Amino acid sequence: MIKQQRLADEFSRLAAITSPPLKESAIARYLAERLQRLGGEVCIDNAAAATGGETGNLVATFPGTGKETEPLLFSVHMDTVEPGGQVEPVLRDGVFYSAGDTVLGADDKAGIAELIEALEVVREQEIPHGPIEVVVAIAEEIGLIGAKNLDYHMLKARKGFALDTKGTDQMVLKAPGANRLRVEITGLAAHAGLSPELGISAIQTAALAIGRMRLGRIDHETTSNIGRIEGGVASNIVPQKVFLEGEARSHDPQKLQVQTEHMLACFEEAADSMAREIDGKMVRPVVSAEVKPDFPSMAVAEDAPVVNLARSAAAALGHDLKVRLGGGGSDANIFNAHGIEMIILATGMERVHTHDESVAVADMVHSTELLVEIIRQA
Ligand SMILES: [Zn+2]
Repeated sequence: MIKQQRLADEFSRLAAITSPPLKESAIARYLAERLQRLGGEVCIDNAAAATGGETGNLVATFPGTGKETEPLLFSVHMDTVEPGGQVEPVLRDGVFYSAGDTVLGADDKAGIAELIEALEVVREQEIPHGPIEVVVAIAEEIGLIGAKNLDYHMLKARKGFALDTKGTDQMVLKAPGANRLRVEITGLAAHAGLSPELGISAIQTAALAIGRMRLGRIDHETTSNIGRIEGGVASNIVPQKVFLEGEARSHDPQKLQVQTEHMLACFEEAADSMAREIDGKMVRPVVSAEVKPDFPSMAVAEDAPVVNLARSAAAALGHDLKVRLGGGGSDANIFNAHGIEMIILATGMERVHTHDESVAVADMVHSTELLVEIIRQA
């Protein structure tokens, strides 16, 4: 049913189109034409204006064929992480790798190729199906900003599948939400040798704050990190400014809030403990913190219709579908936040975001079988 060669060729073509985030016009043109040829009605939304990208998100709708079911959504993304550049996909022993020093871009082009092959098969075999909607988002890799700026009015589907996780026979129902923190500490500069008592060290304030902060794995569903620090001018100057960047993640929105507030409180407490009188005036380092919600958590119930559909399709094929806990944000977090119940399915991609990224053709075939069966059963 599934044509392995056609699927491999499709993947090869997609991988060879350079598509860094916000510079996706070439691949968007290709996909618009490709999905139209499959019978889809293709629209590009206005996300380009909001994101400064070359193109908006691509939305393709396929009318149902003799089946009056609810529309089903498939989500993939067209951008790939850097270093992109000109990718040269090579096939060795049935596995695709990148020939040069670029990623392969199987994330997420394996998912796109599988979806295209599934749509080919459904059409060829004249498998009756309900309406299908496809979103190929831009700029997933730089903060899900395509999905965040998607025109959700273009969609009717209330449930769907994101094809965007590693391995095979896996689905992700839960993924954490995250807050990103940027903190600037302003102390008081002074000559470190002549008059250190006239200064307040921003670096020392930061050190005190971090020293009392809970970081790393907080509990089974919460993590936290200070990932960047920059400040000071020279060894003989009491440093006036320090910038820090960090994050907190949790599957539980309440815990995310608690951890974020804890981190901010650590900075304030450190500033309090560094405050002292200088020239008869109380001086306290100034903490200015910015917290940006990066993405909300997602948690689809084990017995949700979309999960049952995936399980039932896998069972019909004799595939053993396992649930894996997500560790990061993906477009599915955003779709779920917009009321579209979406789980993430594995596409066979491995070692994503590295030069050793790969995907086996057999695994793509395996993943495509599941998509066809999901469409058949929906
Ligand atoms: Zn991805």
